[in-house]
Amino acid sequence: MLKEFAADLHIHTCLSPCADSEMIPPNILNMAKLLGTKIIGISDHNSAKNLQAMIEASRNYEILVLPGIEVQSKEEVHVLCLFERLKEALEFQDFIYSHLPQKKNYPQYFGHQYVVDAQGNVKGEEERLLIASTDLSVDEILKNAYKLGGIVIPAHIDRNTFGILGQLGFIPEYLRVDAVEFSKNISLKEARGKFPFIFDRFPVIFSSDAHCLKDMVFQKTYFLLKEPTFEEIKKALIGIGGRGVVLRE
Ligand SMILES: [Zn+2]
Ligand SMILES: [Zn+2]
Repeated sequence: MLKEFAADLHIHTCLSPCADSEMIPPNILNMAKLLGTKIIGISDHNSAKNLQAMIEASRNYEILVLPGIEVQSKEEVHVLCLFERLKEALEFQDFIYSHLPQKKNYPQYFGHQYVVDAQGNVKGEEERLLIASTDLSVDEILKNAYKLGGIVIPAHIDRNTFGILGQLGFIPEYLRVDAVEFSKNISLKEARGKFPFIFDRFPVIFSSDAHCLKDMVFQKTYFLLKEPTFEEIKKALIGIGGRGVVLRE
């Protein structure tokens, strides 16, 4: 028996310098609960440091938290990488950190990079600047995320900056991505009209890319699944056994 689960696979926490300090685990989870979002992906820029707190906090909710990272490639493309467990996400973070420039964050210019606990108390700040390009190509990011069993989705492809179409002009045939993501800046109708070739080629999701709580209101993607698990989402993106992605305006 398949059921629909509302999903938002791209949400930032207060670790991302560009995100609001209100983006702490209890607030994000309470907002998701309020909205009826059953599956959320947490994906800070180039880092996994708030994932443990998010997963710990989610134990009190009926919400599946997918640990992820939004990686910035050397071509300045944002790629959403989501994993089944924290372990893989942390392993992926080590790999990403070894390819991220050793630049210091200046909070007064870029914003704070808060590392928090499950209650949202600030434990410290990540000193390394997270909004920077890694020296990895999209292809290298993909291969390494797949090695860890991840789901890989080029982010906000409708955006000129940091979107794969804006940066590369196209999605190369050899890139075996699981889906592509549209941002909250484009309606489903507009996306279908402007990017029909994308809908023909890939499973499509829409995400909020929330940097503050009110961004999370944006909700268009539903997964048709047996139960809300990482494996079921993988199957839905392939379309196994009637599972799939349902998009609503
Ligand atoms: Zn992005
Ligand atoms: Zn983002």
